[in-house]
Amino acid sequence: MKLTFLGTSCMVPTKERAQTAMVLEHKGEYLLIDSGESVQRQFKLAGMKPSKIGRILLTHWHGDHVLGLPGLLQTLSGSGHKGTLVIYGPPGIKEKIALMLRLYEFDNKLTIRVEEVQKGVFYENREYALEAIPLRHRIACNGYAFHLKDRRRIDMKKAEALGLKEGPLLGELSVGKNVTLAGREISPDDVTYVVKGKTVAFIFDTLLTDAACRLAKDADILVCEAVYTSDLEDKAREHQHLTAAHAATIAKRAGVKKLILSHLSQRYKDKAVLLKEAKAIFSNTMTAKDFMTLTI
Ligand SMILES: [Zn+2]
Ligand SMILES: [Zn+2]
Repeated sequence: MKLTFLGTSCMVPTKERAQTAMVLEHKGEYLLIDSGESVQRQFKLAGMKPSKIGRILLTHWHGDHVLGLPGLLQTLSGSGHKGTLVIYGPPGIKEKIALMLRLYEFDNKLTIRVEEVQKGVFYENREYALEAIPLRHRIACNGYAFHLKDRRRIDMKKAEALGLKEGPLLGELSVGKNVTLAGREISPDDVTYVVKGKTVAFIFDTLLTDAACRLAKDADILVCEAVYTSDLEDKAREHQHLTAAHAATIAKRAGVKKLILSHLSQRYKDKAVLLKEAKAIFSNTMTAKDFMTLTI
């Protein structure tokens, strides 16, 4: 699994930072989390193909999170995107996207499905589950968690000792099914071991809430907005954003392994002030940069 930051600024893009967008890559499929202005160009600069996007998770409809969406959809509709592009967002998103598609004149050859999601697991397959939770922002806003499930790996030594070779039987065992070989039943526990799953949580634009802590519970990575330092806590409250200390408090309360601060304000030329404030509360913190990638 790979996480790539395509945009790490908040309202105003800077020379170094585009507006919010991140890609979580899993087995060749891209999940795009938010789609700030210039997301297409960021894809190009990162050497990544937007045609690999299978799902888009929009946190909310503020411009700095969605202004790149129309351009991205236009390009995808002209570049032979295969299958259905599923866009998830908080309540109200269907109407916004329908309006947006009416507003721009482009040949929409894309198959788009928009789903309004609010709370709990809204998509699940054998490999992973996607969860949403409502946050507290000025408009409807979701936090998201990607849960990679536990998976079984074959211990080839044990498998060979039982006479098993590469093939469909190992496939069955790796998905937790019993198999029979030469009249003998073999259980997955005989020849497999469990690789623990991983969780990556995304919290963008909220006040400090218990919901954010619940969503991030035990996450391996928490990517969290941090617009202000604590001396501007009143402003943070007024605009319903987090301070760096708030983000670190969520990380600490949720017991996450690593915190990455993003959605950073141009107000701070040197982002070290945000990092320092967060690290005083939660030491395993880093600040995101555009094009930064993490293998998870
Ligand atoms: Zn924002
Ligand atoms: Zn916002």
